[in-house]
Amino acid sequence: MKVQIKQVDERIWNEEIKEILPSKIFDAHVHTLKKDFFSNCVPEGLRIYGECSVPAVQKKLSFLFQTRQLQFLFTGWPSTDALIEKQNMYLVNCSKKYQFNFLVIVTPQFTPSYLEKIVKDKNCIGFKPYKCFSSKSDPEDAKITDYLPEHQIEIANEYGLLITLHLSKRKGISDPENIDDLLYLSEKYPCVSWNLAHCGRSYFPENIEKSMRNIIRLKGRNVFFDTSAVTDRCVFEILFSEFGADYIIYGSDAPICFHRGKCVRFGYDWAFITKETHSITASFPVEPALLLYEQLWAMCHAIKKLKFSKKQANEIFFENAEKVIKKVKSSKRKHLC
Ligand SMILES: [Zn+2]
Repeated sequence: MKVQIKQVDERIWNEEIKEILPSKIFDAHVHTLKKDFFSNCVPEGLRIYGECSVPAVQKKLSFLFQTRQLQFLFTGWPSTDALIEKQNMYLVNCSKKYQFNFLVIVTPQFTPSYLEKIVKDKNCIGFKPYKCFSSKSDPEDAKITDYLPEHQIEIANEYGLLITLHLSKRKGISDPENIDDLLYLSEKYPCVSWNLAHCGRSYFPENIEKSMRNIIRLKGRNVFFDTSAVTDRCVFEILFSEFGADYIIYGSDAPICFHRGKCVRFGYDWAFITKETHSITASFPVEPALLLYEQLWAMCHAIKKLKFSKKQANEIFFENAEKVIKKVKSSKRKHLC
């Protein structure tokens, strides 16, 4: 997917983002996606992204972040059609060459010896399970342990790893069963850092607003929220005001963020409406902006509205991710020596 900074993007960057964005950014949610990750051809819906090798994605993000210095936490592309072990090997090899950290994709079938072997690699920070690997006929109904069995969480706990969870169930973190499971798992496995991707899969504010009394019970535990692919400013306002800056981690969800468009609420559901996938029409010409900039705009708006300090903005965009990764590395060192 070709990436360009158009007039609308330039305006958003200059008027809404630039002033808030610190000089260093830690992007803790980035995917790599390559043709040879699939035994047959690349599934049709993914062809739009083209070849997303690690250096290609890094180059695009560096271009879009202009003068900012970037660090990355990469993972592969979790899909039942993909060759997962091949992707994990690509990350192991590439992380040495390009100096980045990564999350290994885990499926419930992976053995402890396979996982421990990869975890021992110094750039491996943790696990990226995914709901599609659950044995449930409808992965949307899966519990966390249906796609991440406890014997794998035990390994993460032993090494003090980060687990980035894309929660199942329509309501994501607002689903009471997900909250109960996270309360249980974060207490039983206190050395694991949990990162709930896409603000706990909260793309619009109504669900987290209604269930915040329950979600807030996770505060003070090792549970973080990454901001990847969320473009709704109210979601950030709610989450940042309730959890403060300490539990928020920036993520772009590249290459998804290279689309032009945003996530739109329809009733109690949501959909990504983008120029590349939909015809966007109005009574005047519409010029959709990069999803990356829509997300940054929404985050910066919440930061401004809540009068967060520069230090807090820096925690969200850089320090929290850096802190978690340092903690994982120190815990791994202790375990391995
Ligand atoms: Zn993602």
